[in-house]
Amino acid sequence: MLEDIIELDKKYYMNTFGDRLPVCFTHGKGLELYSDDGKTYYDFLGGIAVNALGHSHPEFIGALKSQLDKVLHTSSLYYIENQAKLAKALVNATVADKAFFCNSGAEANEGALKLAKIYHYKKGDNKTEVISLSKSFHGRTIATVAATGQEKYQKPYREFTNGFMQVEPNDINALKSAISDKTAAIILELIQGESGVHPMDREYVNEVRQICSDNDIVMIVDEVQTGMGRCGYLFAHQMYGVEPDIFTCAKALGGGIPIGAVLAKANIAAAFSPGDHGTTFGGNPFATAAGLAVMKIFKEEKLVENANEIGKYFKSELNSLMQKYPEKIKEIRAYGLLIGIELDEGIAKDVFKALFDNGILTSLCGGNTIRIAPPLIIGKGDVDLFINTLDAVLG
Ligand SMILES: *Cc1c(COP(=O)(O)O)cnc(C)c1O
Repeated sequence: MLEDIIELDKKYYMNTFGDRLPVCFTHGKGLELYSDDGKTYYDFLGGIAVNALGHSHPEFIGALKSQLDKVLHTSSLYYIENQAKLAKALVNATVADKAFFCNSGAEANEGALKLAKIYHYKKGDNKTEVISLSKSFHGRTIATVAATGQEKYQKPYREFTNGFMQVEPNDINALKSAISDKTAAIILELIQGESGVHPMDREYVNEVRQICSDNDIVMIVDEVQTGMGRCGYLFAHQMYGVEPDIFTCAKALGGGIPIGAVLAKANIAAAFSPGDHGTTFGGNPFATAAGLAVMKIFKEEKLVENANEIGKYFKSELNSLMQKYPEKIKEIRAYGLLIGIELDEGIAKDVFKALFDNGILTSLCGGNTIRIAPPLIIGKGDVDLFINTLDAVLG
């Protein structure tokens, strides 16, 4: 019973999530999630951009079960076939030359920051500072909180966050003034997800790339949310036509099994020598079996192409709805299947809640933006369901 679960949670679980939405899911299929009281929900958030294959994808679950019967974990002391193969698959599909696996997005960004720092350290230069952007989100570990450009996440932990500074996004002059001969790296999301789906301008991203190249600054692109097909490209930097020195990936990489990745160009990756970085769980046989299965199913079902195509349809349907409710919908920001619907401030919370009551799962971020990041297996019929429900809620 939901009430019993809530009682246990309140009594035994640290209160970092406050009052959650009053539902507990027992199982799912495709875009559908079923709650313990027998109600059906439609998952337009995909576990926050994680469940790219939807729920209970038969081939994916089959691959996981088959790995379960073989071996789960062996440690990094030994070679791991799935790990080597997943590294190859990601390198072959991108501009990266080398991969390293960990367990989460924050840990991937930690690895990226460490790699950028050790790259300069081993060159013997004195570059130690990191620049990131306001309204960014890079994770909850100490270093990634320091990089996260939001006061509410940083404030209680401030004494740990030396060496990080933030500048306004899409302002190339602000970035230029922040750069010094101590700047080691710049880390940015190309589309800021957590703060409400805010894109970087194409020109800005190209200028950042140029500045990094001219000044030997490591350009790190955080693709934890935008990666793995989310924006209609395997990675968002491919959409921008820009080559980062390092990029990170996590959320959808394991289709729900925790795994993150640091991907880097050869000259940067070479800075890590044996012992400089490591992990116990990262890239274990089970997690990398999940990653391999995700990559395989992406190809077989053309899911990146689907994200692009359905994303366009979603965007045009949402734009029509915006024309119908110009007072209520302020802006649509849609990049493949990473979509922000900015609503009038007065109604955002109520619309979010009404969607939930109608069985539509989304998230409210950046104050008044409904964010959707559905599984990439989504079809036009699912989009229609969303649009009709939102239409009814707004009307
Ligand atoms: C979710 C997210 C992270 C953090 O990932 P975790 O797996 O929660 O540590 C980092 N960066 C971006 C852009 C994210 O969206």
